[in-house]
Amino acid sequence: MIESKNPYTGETLEKFKELTKPQIEEALEKADSRFKKWRKTSFKERADLMMKAAEELKKNKEEYGRDISLEMGKPIKQAIAEVEKCAWVCEYYAENSEKHLSSKTIKTDASESYVSYEPIGVVLAVMPWNYPFWQVFRFAAPALMAGNIGILKHASNVMRSANNIQKVFERAGFPAACFQNLVLSSSKIEDIIKDPRVKAATLTGSKPAGAAVASAASSEIKKSVLELGGSNALVVFKDANIAESVSTCVQARFQNTGQSCIAGKRLLLHKSIAEEFLEEFVRQTRELKSGDPLDEDTFIGTLAREDLAKDLEKQVKDSVKAGAKIILGGKRDKAYMEPTVLTGVTPEMSMFKEETFGPAIGVTQFKDEKEAVELVNMSDFGLGVSIFTEDMDFAKKLVPEFEDGAVFVNELVKSDPRLPFGGTKISGYGRELSEDGIKEFVNKKTVYFK
Ligand code: NAP
Repeated sequence: MIESKNPYTGETLEKFKELTKPQIEEALEKADSRFKKWRKTSFKERADLMMKAAEELKKNKEEYGRDISLEMGKPIKQAIAEVEKCAWVCEYYAENSEKHLSSKTIKTDASESYVSYEPIGVVLAVMPWNYPFWQVFRFAAPALMAGNIGILKHASNVMRSANNIQKVFERAGFPAACFQNLVLSSSKIEDIIKDPRVKAATLTGSKPAGAAVASAASSEIKKSVLELGGSNALVVFKDANIAESVSTCVQARFQNTGQSCIAGKRLLLHKSIAEEFLEEFVRQTRELKSGDPLDEDTFIGTLAREDLAKDLEKQVKDSVKAGAKIILGGKRDKAYMEPTVLTGVTPEMSMFKEETFGPAIGVTQFKDEKEAVELVNMSDFGLGVSIFTEDMDFAKKLVPEFEDGAVFVNELVKSDPRLPFGGTKISGYGRELSEDGIKEFVNKKTVYFK
């Protein structure tokens, strides 16, 4: 039995029966036979349906947002904003997929030669709980618009949201089995990936889960895309606008109660501005309102599960043992963790070298740009970095020095349907969103007429 539990109250919300073997077989068969028809639909037909999905999301954003808050403790305002962002990605791909996937003529010695972009079939998405709607829609919108079929294995603690997502596509009028949620635990995933009707897999989540999914896929020579963890640095140079960069850094670390792969998790401050910056950073962090996720004023909810809060508390305690100092917060109560700031963090401490998935940040000082770049690249992760400076020539010069998948200047790293999103190193491979994202799961077919 799979269970949804409210992390704020501890109560069980709903229990879900796992699919049986025959039910899995039926779901895969339906997905495969739907693909044979869906691949022949026009972009216009798909786009009309995708626009209806966007309308459905906007119309019922409170209903969907409330279930997100109940299941994983996200403050309601942020949950509703997440649903609205899903409508945006649906609209974006409804409007742009035909252009992204139009054939590309290439001049050769042929009378005509071009590349066409064709759907590949059923794609499995294994998704995490931290943005229960957004992670799925940023996969599903391009996949369906490309003519593929989506099947979802969602995180076990957000199964109600997973069912809601299937409902969005049904209410929008998509033909049956274009998108199905499979109520399953992760132990069943390997067999599904290896099933010949499933052509590829994408996973957003942790490194161990990514490795398991990618190795099952590669054993059958199937493609995978991995969006894994991150430990983004926020680098504040001495000429930065302190007032603006402080509030951006507070958002970067604490939105979604710190449970974001692209959150700023390591705060790197030039030593000449560290004191002034930190004073204001702590003041603003102290003002963030913690409370009931269903309360409109709440900014910090609980973590999605108590074990996640315990993990974060351990990282904080281990770093303190290794010499870091807590200057704000540090206490845990069940699934709630106080917004926490630690100074004197060094590269060998947990707060620096591990991903911290919650409202705690480690601060490290640097003396010059060379040391700042070294500290950023010292991480095993490579999702993104934010740098804060008023000198755009300096920023441009620094961009190639970073090993990450994204560099944002004077802004927090954020996902946007128009821009590619993805990491390097153990943050994964492949890209989601934009034209790059929709082209991950297509057959790039070379066509040549003599
Ligand atoms: P997780 O434990 O890796 O779970 C992610 C998904 O993988 C869940 O559906 C989970 O199912 C499934 N899973 C776990 N082990 C598996 C296995 N051996 N085989 C197949 N599937 C497996 O991650 P999480 O705790 O939900 O999410 C947090 C992590 O996701 C963080 O590291 C975060 O940085 C990362 N993340 C990355 C991005 C990005 O875009 N790069 C975005 C958001 C989150 P069960 O729930 O049933 O175990």
